[in-house]
Amino acid sequence: MLQRNPLSGQRPQWQDALRDAVRSPAELLELLGLPRTLLDAYPRAAQSFPLRVPRAYVARMRRHDPDDPLLRQVLPLAAEDDDSAGYGPDPVGDLAALTAPGVLHKYRGRALLVTTGACGVHCRYCFRRHFPYGDANPAVDQWRPALAYIATDTTISEVILSGGDPLSLPDARLAELIEQLAALPHVRRLRLHTRLPIVLPERVDDGLCAWLAATPLQKVVVVHANHANEIDSATAAALGRLRGCGATLLNQSVLLRGVNDAVASLAELSEALFAAGVLPYYLHLLDKVGGAAHFDVTETEAVRLVAELRARLPGYLVPRLVREIAGEASKRPIM
Ligand SMILES: *Cc1c(COP(=O)(O)O)cnc(C)c1O
Ligand code: SF4
Repeated sequence: MLQRNPLSGQRPQWQDALRDAVRSPAELLELLGLPRTLLDAYPRAAQSFPLRVPRAYVARMRRHDPDDPLLRQVLPLAAEDDDSAGYGPDPVGDLAALTAPGVLHKYRGRALLVTTGACGVHCRYCFRRHFPYGDANPAVDQWRPALAYIATDTTISEVILSGGDPLSLPDARLAELIEQLAALPHVRRLRLHTRLPIVLPERVDDGLCAWLAATPLQKVVVVHANHANEIDSATAAALGRLRGCGATLLNQSVLLRGVNDAVASLAELSEALFAAGVLPYYLHLLDKVGGAAHFDVTETEAVRLVAELRARLPGYLVPRLVREIAGEASKRPIM
């Protein structure tokens, strides 16, 4: 694919692809050859967190299958409007952990920067679907308070760029931020938590590789795939390019009912990730965010699934089953 020169002032191709994402549920169903009756009970919840899915991701869904595991992750369903006890807007205590505008500092040595509220895809189970990004980061265009916080706390050796999806920001902004982080002597590692290389592989272009390869920080990219069908040849190529820029690649998934709650699908995911140069890192139990209760898999079921996975795969292909509990010193290992 021809890349436009990042210095020419033209918009890179991935930004067009991002803008061109499918936002109309009727169009999505039409692309997949599914009946419009699936929209009869479209949830109110989709008004504040609307459908959004890149065309490259839609292309990996099976046509005529309302239960497709990729479709289930993005199509708003009536069940989102159900009130479920124990499900709320801030399931992991993010608001209490905001230590400076845009900084979540929950764990020793690692500070997480909420760089943007924007994502390439809207995942219906997302634990930050109700997060007030505007309040957390009032001036998204300036990192000064966040950088000042990280500069003062010399115990922070790793900075995690998260969001939203940090790679939805333009490369020039990211390059500037990373240069400022790299100038802090106690910061050694840069970690990106991003789903864009999976859902929009065009994002991994020359512009991204330029700043990623150039930074002296050690680089970890944690991608987010939940199902083997998410990894097609374009995605695998994008992941290969990221490794080529010097990043260690890990994956985190969420255990989701109707998406990957079977040992065969978890095993296929681990195999597909490894074939693309990515090690499985975490398998998260669902965070109890309002609107996502229909995705929940019980802890008992999860433990059984991971035990079966362990009996099938080499240890390095078995992700750690974890749950995030507000106020704890790390993610809680379940298995
Ligand atoms: C999950 C998380 C991290 C990273 O935790 P690891 O166990 O190192 O992957 C860091 N900060 C916050 C706020 C998190 O939620
Ligand atoms: S890409 Fe990540 S942050 Fe964005 S909606 Fe999906 S799960 Fe949430």
